[in-house]
Amino acid sequence: MRLGASVLCLSLAASAVVAVGSSTTAYAAADPGPPKTATARGFGGAVTSVDPYATRIGLRVLKHGGNATDAAVATAAALGVTEPFSAGIGGGGYFVHYSAKTGKVQTIDGRETAPAAMQHDAFIDPDTGKPYNFSPELVTSGVSVGVPGTLATWQRALDRWGTSSLEASLAPGAALARHGFKVDQTFHDQVQQNKVRFNAFTSTRKLYWRGGHAPRVGSTFRNPDLADTYQLLARRGPRPFYDGRLSDEIVDAVQHPPTTAGTDLPVPPGSMVAKDLKRYLPRDRAATHTRYRGLDVYGMAPSSSGGSTVGEALNILEGYDLSSMSRVQALHHYLEASALAFADRGAYVGDPSQVDVPLQDLLSDTYAAERACLIRPHHTLTKPVDAGDVSSYDGVCGQGTSRPTTTNDTENTQTTNLTVADKWGNVVDYTLTIEQTGGSGIVVPGRGFLLNNELTDFTAEYAADDPNRIEPLKRPRSSMSPTIVLQHGKPYLAVGSPGGSTIITTVLQILMNRLDLGLSLPAAIAAPRVSQRNAATDDAEPRFTRKYGDALDALGHDVKTYADPFTGTHEIGAATAIEFRRNGSVVVAAEPKRRGGGSAMVVHPTR
Ligand code: GLU
Repeated sequence: MRLGASVLCLSLAASAVVAVGSSTTAYAAADPGPPKTATARGFGGAVTSVDPYATRIGLRVLKHGGNATDAAVATAAALGVTEPFSAGIGGGGYFVHYSAKTGKVQTIDGRETAPAAMQHDAFIDPDTGKPYNFSPELVTSGVSVGVPGTLATWQRALDRWGTSSLEASLAPGAALARHGFKVDQTFHDQVQQNKVRFNAFTSTRKLYWRGGHAPRVGSTFRNPDLADTYQLLARRGPRPFYDGRLSDEIVDAVQHPPTTAGTDLPVPPGSMVAKDLKRYLPRDRAATHTRYRGLDVYGMAPSSSGGSTVGEALNILEGYDLSSMSRVQALHHYLEASALAFADRGAYVGDPSQVDVPLQDLLSDTYAAERACLIRPHHTLTKPVDAGDVSSYDGVCGQGTSRPTTTNDTENTQTTNLTVADKWGNVVDYTLTIEQTGGSGIVVPGRGFLLNNELTDFTAEYAADDPNRIEPLKRPRSSMSPTIVLQHGKPYLAVGSPGGSTIITTVLQILMNRLDLGLSLPAAIAAPRVSQRNAATDDAEPRFTRKYGDALDALGHDVKTYADPFTGTHEIGAATAIEFRRNGSVVVAAEPKRRGGGSAMVVHPTR
C-alpha cells in the first residue's frame, strides 16, 4: 500500500507543530531542538543519523506507518537541511536496502556523473599546463561539480521499496527548512571553516554569511529557498531538477559560478549542460557479498570501492583468529589487510560502465589467501604495497605476481550516513555526500542548496591504465561503504560512515571490533580509530596513538596522529549502525562524540 502524501504529510506536520508553507514561527521560537542520545535500545523500528532533527523526522515516519525506505528518504531530506555542508540534493550517494519480504540486499548507485563534455585534461590549468591546486582552486569550482544523483536516488528508492510518495518524504524537511532549527557548534564551525569559499559566491554568502558572520550557535537557522525548492519537487517530482527550470539554473551556476566581485579565488567553470542532467539515471546494482565468520556481509559495488575493499580485507582477515590474538597483533593484521586491499582498489576499481572491474577475483577467498601470504606477524610491509595480479592466482604462498598501483588520495572527509530499520524487518543503510565540507561552495542562486565537488574524486592527472581516470559520463570512484550484515538470512548489523577513503577502514574497524574483538556496538563505534590506506603512515586518532602507537611502531608501523587537511580535526569517521538482537530488539548507535555526537532513536524503548 502506498501511503497517501496528504495523510502522512498532515500527521507528520501536526506532530512537528508546523504546517508546510505556514508563516508561523512558533516551531522555531519554542523548540529547543530534539534531545540527542547516541545509543538507544528497543523495538518496533529505529533511526540513527548524525543529527537529532533528522533522526526525529525519520522516527516520526516510522511511527506513522512508513517503512524503512520512507523513513530513510525523509531523514536524508532533513539532513539536506541541517547538514547541508555534508549532503543534499546537490550531491550523490549509495542506498543499500534489505527486504524482509525477499530476504535480499539490493542497492542503488546514486553517484554523481561527469558531464559528456568533460575532457581528460579538465583538471589541468590551461594557463600553466599543470594541475590546478587541489584546494582551493579545484574544490571550489564548476569543473568539479558532477551531475547530482541524490534526488533521483530518493525517487528510485521510493519506487522500489517505499510506501510513501516523494511529496510526503520531502514535507518534513521543507517544514524544517522553513521554520528553522537551532544552530549547533558543528554547523557554525563548518561555515567558519568555509569563510573564504562561501564568501566567494553571492548566493552562498547571502545564505550562510548573513550579517557578515557564520550563524551563531543557538540561533535559529532558516532556509526558505530550500523549503520552496523541496515544495516544488514535492509538487512536481524530480522532473524540474533534471529537465526543467531548476536544471537550467544548476547548469548556469556550474558554467557561470556566481562569484562575488573582488574574490581572489579563480573558480574554473564547468562544462555541464542541460542534457547531462536529463540523461542522469541512478543505477540499480547487485550488492557485493562476502562471507565472514559465518555471516553474510553485503556492501556497495563499483562505482564505489567500499564493498570490494571492505570485502577483500575481511576475506584476508578471515584466515586469522583475531579474537585470540593480542590487541596489538589484531590491529597489525587489520592494518596490513587494509593496505593490501587498498592496493587492489587503486589498481582495479572504477566506474563499471567504463572499466572492467574484476569484482569476483577481488572478492575471491583464493585471491585473499594469496594476498594474506604477504602478512608477517612481527614485520610490517613497506608501503605502498603492490597490487596483486587478479589474472593469475591460486592461493598458494610464493606463487603470486604483482603490479604497481596508484595511491593518490584526494577524497575529503565529510559526508553523512544514516541507518534505519522498520517493524517489518526492512533495513536501510545510506551514505550520501556533496564530497568536501561545503561541496563546491556554490549555492544554486535562490534554491538554497550547495552543489557537490565530487568529480575531484577522479585522479587529477590522466593515465590510461588508471581505472579512476577522468572520462566523460563516468562516475568517480567512491569509498562510501554502506554495509548490511545478515546472519542466517536475517539482519544482524547495518553500518556506514562518512570520511572519504577512511570510510572503508572505519567500517572495517567497527566490524572487527564487534565481530572479532567482542566490543559492544556502541563501544565498537566509540573506540579510537586508525586507518591504513596503503600509505607510509597509519593515520590515527590521538587516543589511538597514545594507546597503541609505540607497540605498533615497534613492529615497523609508523602511526601518526591524523589531522584533516581541510578542517584540522583529528577525528576519523562519524558512523551510525543498528544491531539486531535475537529477542527482536535493536541496539541503535551513533557517535557519542565525533562531529558533536549523533542521534539514535527507537520507536518503542520497551516491548
Ligand atoms: N567523496 C567521498 C567518497 O565518495 C566521500 C567524501 C566524504 O566522505 O567526505 O568516498
